[in-house]
Amino acid sequence: LDPETFAVESHAVIDFIAGYYRDVEKYPVRSEAEPGSLRKLLPEAPPENGEPVEGILEDVQRHIVPGLTHFQSPNFFAYYPFNASTAGFVGEMLCTSFNVAPFTWVASPLATELECVMMDWMCKLMGLPDRFLFSGGGGGVLHGSTCEAVVCTLAAARDRALGRLGHEGITKLVVYASDQSHSTFQKGARIVGIAPSNFRIIRTSAASSYGLTADGVRDAVEADIASGLVPLYLCATVGTTGIGAVDPVAALGELARRYGMWLHVDAAYAGSALICPEFHDYIHGAELADSVSMNPHKWFLTNMDCCCLWVASPALLTSALSITPEYLNDVSEGKTDVIDHKDWQIALTRRFRAIKLWVVLRRYGAAGIRAHIRRHVEMAKCFEQALKADERFEVVGPTRFSLVTFRLRPRYEGDHAVNALNRKLLNAVNTSGRAFMTHFVVDNKFVIRIAIGATMTGMQHIRGACELLQEKATEITTTATT
Ligand code: PLP
Repeated sequence: LDPETFAVESHAVIDFIAGYYRDVEKYPVRSEAEPGSLRKLLPEAPPENGEPVEGILEDVQRHIVPGLTHFQSPNFFAYYPFNASTAGFVGEMLCTSFNVAPFTWVASPLATELECVMMDWMCKLMGLPDRFLFSGGGGGVLHGSTCEAVVCTLAAARDRALGRLGHEGITKLVVYASDQSHSTFQKGARIVGIAPSNFRIIRTSAASSYGLTADGVRDAVEADIASGLVPLYLCATVGTTGIGAVDPVAALGELARRYGMWLHVDAAYAGSALICPEFHDYIHGAELADSVSMNPHKWFLTNMDCCCLWVASPALLTSALSITPEYLNDVSEGKTDVIDHKDWQIALTRRFRAIKLWVVLRRYGAAGIRAHIRRHVEMAKCFEQALKADERFEVVGPTRFSLVTFRLRPRYEGDHAVNALNRKLLNAVNTSGRAFMTHFVVDNKFVIRIAIGATMTGMQHIRGACELLQEKATEITTTATT
């Protein structure tokens, strides 16, 4: 790695990226690439000799960019946002520049120290209880995804329970989540060996705005205890993926305590909003949780990947995950009371993500990030109002945070026909290339989701999305009736 060559080539890449961001709005948001299309354009094998970076960038522009789905387009409203920002880039560049691996404290002391400080900063910013601070007996770690975080906490909860029950007890362990919880939880339960028949999906309804109710969970838990099973873990979500529902953390925390279950709060998307005091109520009761996670790479101006996980009792996590082979044994005596984050996650190798979060937090400040969140929340309200003013549409879920769920309302059609009509509408919107939205099904209703949160989205894009929906609704309802 020659620094002079690096300076020249990286400038070329930065100019390329800046150009991409300047133009990103011009591309169709959702990729229309056909399966296998890229293989036809690329050689069968890698080049024998190195090529200049200019030619590589030309090919990226020619072959890759046109076929991408542009997650950073201001007209990207699908899934949940995946924020990129200038500070996120700078932080990511520093992370990749040093390319250190803070798996043990000794391997990268200050990277570990920075991670611990960042986890405390984030904990305070989100208004989480002191028990998740290092000084409060808890602590945090940066993972790449919620899925990894959930697997690790499930392993910790499982091992705590098996310490009591013995290893054969694994077949008795039951985990609970709502029908709105992310599939990541089901995957995690499968990975840590929970019997598929012991994965309880508790139904929610419009009456509780699709949040879990304490009664619903209690009934399920008591039925399991009566059958000789052992409640292990309850996953509460603040801001579910489909419809943005919020589970009542305090009530679920009390239940978890009563029945000896681990309570995890998954705030992957909405956790970013918790830095605004007006959303703090949603995390009320977190002092009863065993762990909390959120993804700054969703809505916190932090480029992928970055997931914060806090645990109240790090010892439970590390006793499930800690294995120290001889080659990782620290021979520099005296540094015993240190954090080895390898024992807080699955992999050994890990990135210096803390520096990225540090740059983001310092560059924008808490006030800047709150303003970013509030701008999108405001846009969601405007979008909702505009849609409500058009009597053809109905808003389906409660609009929370920056997610609006809606559909063309039924006129004379049955459920099946109105669902088909909405599917057609979504398809027409997405194939137009002017925006990308995704859908969800709740109470057998096919609903369209608009998740506002791309960094470059402005009010003009919200107006554009609304007009696009209205225009396509007119087109498909006209063709349906002629
Ligand atoms: N939990 C919720 C509520 C989510 O919305 C998502 C993704 O959108 C996830 C978990 C999965 O996160 P990850 O991809 O980081 O595992």
